[in-house]
Amino acid sequence: MDAIVLGGGLMGAASAFFLARRGIRVTLIERNRVGTGATIASFGNIRRSGRYLPQLPLASRSLQLWGQAANLLGRDVEFRATGHLRFAFTEKAVNEMRTFAKAAKPWGLDLEELEPRDFKTRFPGLGSTAVAASFSPQDGSGNPRLIAPAFADAARRLGATIVEEAGVGAITKKAAGFEVTTSKSRHAAQVLLNAAGAWGARIAEQFGESVPIVAKGPQLGVTEPLSHRISPVVGVWGHDYGGGYLRQVERGNIVFGGGAERTDVSLETGYAKADPARLPRQLLSLLPILPALANLTVIRTWSGCEGYVGDGLPVMSPSATTPGLFHAFGFCGHGFQLGPGVGDVMAEMIATGKTDTPLDDFRVERFSGRQGSDWRSHTQNGAVG
Ligand SMILES: Cc1cc2nc3c(=O)[nH]c(=O)nc-3n(C[C@H](O)[C@H](O)[C@H](O)COP(=O)(O)OP(=O)(O)OC[C@H]3O[C@@H](n4cnc5c(N)ncnc54)[C@H](O)[C@@H]3O)c2cc1C
Repeated sequence: MDAIVLGGGLMGAASAFFLARRGIRVTLIERNRVGTGATIASFGNIRRSGRYLPQLPLASRSLQLWGQAANLLGRDVEFRATGHLRFAFTEKAVNEMRTFAKAAKPWGLDLEELEPRDFKTRFPGLGSTAVAASFSPQDGSGNPRLIAPAFADAARRLGATIVEEAGVGAITKKAAGFEVTTSKSRHAAQVLLNAAGAWGARIAEQFGESVPIVAKGPQLGVTEPLSHRISPVVGVWGHDYGGGYLRQVERGNIVFGGGAERTDVSLETGYAKADPARLPRQLLSLLPILPALANLTVIRTWSGCEGYVGDGLPVMSPSATTPGLFHAFGFCGHGFQLGPGVGDVMAEMIATGKTDTPLDDFRVERFSGRQGSDWRSHTQNGAVG
């Protein structure tokens, strides 16, 4: 079997790697450089707390792969299981935390609940006015600059062809499969995986599949270094203080996000710009988590073009119109954690026509009004090989 993967973000690069590992001949086509879309802009949070519950099996599969990434990819991608600490500052947030923790347990996620005296001892200087916190020790962070190129390089070593800086022109479907013409070359394969991020709906549309998606830019920033003392990634429950989050990188800088509206992004340029006018509100929202921020200088802000689907869930499924076509796009601001799992599960679906990881809620046809075929039977009927 052979496959073309369109889009060299984390999803496309991880899919190319896992497809190649299954012996499938893969060509990954990226119109810019691998990993320079939403992926490189990411905060790097590898968190399961607060996720849509039916997504937890995929998130846990992905977490396992993050843990194996250095071995799988032959390179340190700076995955660190430092834990995810999440504060609740109000009773409402405490209730949300407890409701989530109880509901997540049967899905395999165990959250520790911490009282103020626990977190003040274990994590001094953080959340001093919070009334409770949760801690998920296996979660953590990874380096958004390293992960997609690491997957693409490892895929190349397994025989995949990586085509960069190649604008995609025509995509045609013939009886034998797909033909993709780029500014550099022409490629043909039985399978086409649409991993085009915020642009994924444009590809889907070409095959009669409509997905409501808007492009937005979450705003992040980084401070000058502080002597190192914060180990976990830190966030809040219930959007207390605007839902800010932060982590300290090993060199000491505090990277932060949340607490500010996402900016609008045009898909024509894909250019997502941080808005300086939103920075003061963002920093104010983070002070209850880390009061020491008041004395630090912000040295850079940035944003990235991410696709937000109408119902806040990604699209991950075979096409409902076109045998051999698969989609994995629209990760709504939380795809970094899922990336390795998405690559693995898409490769599994393409190669075997099935997976035990539940993905039903992410089917592309949920927006089309088309009677959604059961994707498992669709895959078995429609997938190539
Ligand atoms: C600022 C920010 C912070 C974030 N923080 C987190 C976080 O902490 N934790 C988390 O889990 N998630 C986070 N996310 C979300 C996460 O980064 C994304 O969900 C994930 O990186 C999406 O990967 P992707 O491969 O789908 O998209 P992208 O990385 O955008 O890759 C898609 C690629 O497709 C290419 N492309 C598009 N059209 C075509 C075409 N026709 N032909 C060829 N190539 C094409 C693009 O050039 C792009 O490189 C964040 C996102 C942003 C923007």
